[in-house]
Amino acid sequence: MAKKGKVVIDRELCKGCLLCIRACPVQVLEKDSRLNEQGSCPSFPAHPEKCIACGNCFEVCPDVCIEIFDLEGALA
Ligand code: SF4
Ligand code: SF4
Repeated sequence: MAKKGKVVIDRELCKGCLLCIRACPVQVLEKDSRLNEQGSCPSFPAHPEKCIACGNCFEVCPDVCIEIFDLEGALA
């Protein structure tokens, strides 16, 4: 059975590069249509219930905007 995870993205740090969206195997993440303070459309967890705490999004993010949690606690 897949792990259950929770992903948290800092929308003000995110530059909207889409790498995390492409890296997610279960389509948790989408691009927000609203701009953040730096003028980017950040990623956000549009389908948070699907997250399996795989860590892919955290590993590809160049700006360390992402935290992932699973049942054992913080992974990143
Ligand atoms: S941890 Fe994995 S499943 Fe969860 S949002 Fe990131 S890439 Fe998707
Ligand atoms: S990889 Fe990081 S900077 Fe790029 S869209 Fe995702 S959270 Fe934002």
